[in-house]
Amino acid sequence: MRVGLVAVVTVAALVVSGCTHTQTPVPTPSTVSLGPGADGIGDSLYPSAGNGGYDVGNYDLDVRYDPASKVLTGTAVISATATANLTAFDLDLHGLTVASATIDGADAKPSRHADELVLTPASRLPIGRQFHVTVKYSGVPVPYTDPSMGIDGFLATPDGATAIGEPEVAASWYPVNDHPRDKATYTIKITAPDGLQVFSNGVRTGSEPAGGGLSTTTWSVTSPMASYLATMVIGHYRVLEGTADGKPVLSGIDARLPATIDAQIRRTPEIVGYLATQFGPYPFDAMGGIVIDDDRVHFALENQTRPIYSNAFFRGGGDATVVIAHELAHQWYGDSVSVNSWVDIWLNEGFATYAEWLWTAHQGGPTVEATFDDTYDNTSAAVWQSPPGNPSKRELFGYSVYYRGAMTLEALRIKVGDDAFFRIIQDWAKQRAFGNGDTQQFITLAEHDSGQQLDAFFHTWLFGTTKPLRPTR
Ligand SMILES: [Zn+2]
Repeated sequence: MRVGLVAVVTVAALVVSGCTHTQTPVPTPSTVSLGPGADGIGDSLYPSAGNGGYDVGNYDLDVRYDPASKVLTGTAVISATATANLTAFDLDLHGLTVASATIDGADAKPSRHADELVLTPASRLPIGRQFHVTVKYSGVPVPYTDPSMGIDGFLATPDGATAIGEPEVAASWYPVNDHPRDKATYTIKITAPDGLQVFSNGVRTGSEPAGGGLSTTTWSVTSPMASYLATMVIGHYRVLEGTADGKPVLSGIDARLPATIDAQIRRTPEIVGYLATQFGPYPFDAMGGIVIDDDRVHFALENQTRPIYSNAFFRGGGDATVVIAHELAHQWYGDSVSVNSWVDIWLNEGFATYAEWLWTAHQGGPTVEATFDDTYDNTSAAVWQSPPGNPSKRELFGYSVYYRGAMTLEALRIKVGDDAFFRIIQDWAKQRAFGNGDTQQFITLAEHDSGQQLDAFFHTWLFGTTKPLRPTR
């Protein structure tokens, strides 16, 4: 997800979050044979997100955060390859002050334009050239805010911070090609005061004193990751550690929250194990979850290997495993296989919502068929007029994307049968692992694996503006 609290039936009384942010569209110049890289990657809903002209292979982030002053100080070393002949190119950076930027050791003449950091190499970078950008930066991070939708970004808390959001979060704490189409591996080194717990993505590979009452932990993300899934969390947390299938399990629960939450988070490997029986092998080399105590955050997010959950899902001591199943399903659909453009978001949220239905049935609750029937019967006319395959920016995390998206999958299962259906969704996870996919590619795969012509079916369910006929079993 992002899954808003209202998106989960068991906590339907709680507050909705969906995510859309207004931003000023920046025109996207076409990349010429020798010129600057585009200041957007070409996303129809987020025209200034990401950048054209290069492909990042790895981010090496070394960040220090001081909860007392709320100042973040960082050095980012970005390894990239030119995909155009570049006289200049952009990174995305929201707030923060750049002290210096170099390309392969030479001054890159950094300049700022809105949320773009423009760099100019000493000599042009031809197509295919590998290069290293080093950016030194600091400042008090500024979150993204939308008065109607809440808050995203690097969020300071009384004892630390949480970096969480979708689609906009990454550029509020590091310079980045901020779009899921340019995934990369990461090494994330975080320095914070002794006595505080620190979490990030992937495998924790080191923890050592940094002097002056500080410690540094190092995290290794060896599978390519979309930028919005990167996180750093600092604060007083209870730490749960173990292993599952030989992989490290590392979770954190804010120390102020009830210990009853721990038992639910400890079920992470069990839920991953169940989902693997439906979707195929778990894609990553680590797992866990983080429960935060920050009342501004009303959602959960599928941060790679280590989702972050609002504590609100756990209030009242009820079963929150359906939310955990949602975010863990995203490890296959969203994190390993990422959207090609934000308009493809049903490929994340429809799948994760369908995983909620599978998990609920597995737990002895209503069958997937019964959940489908109930959803189909009770979905409003407005949702049938709002196709999940082509959402507006404001509908990106809306009901149609989640629930009509999940209904589309169950309708597909009814149409092609169980064997073909699970072959399709497992092949989607396997063939596009650690990459990207779009809706048309999914349709092509579904037709291939089922041997059926499905254009009309998907047009009705994903792009139509009237209620589809009830599929016959
Ligand atoms: Zn989700």
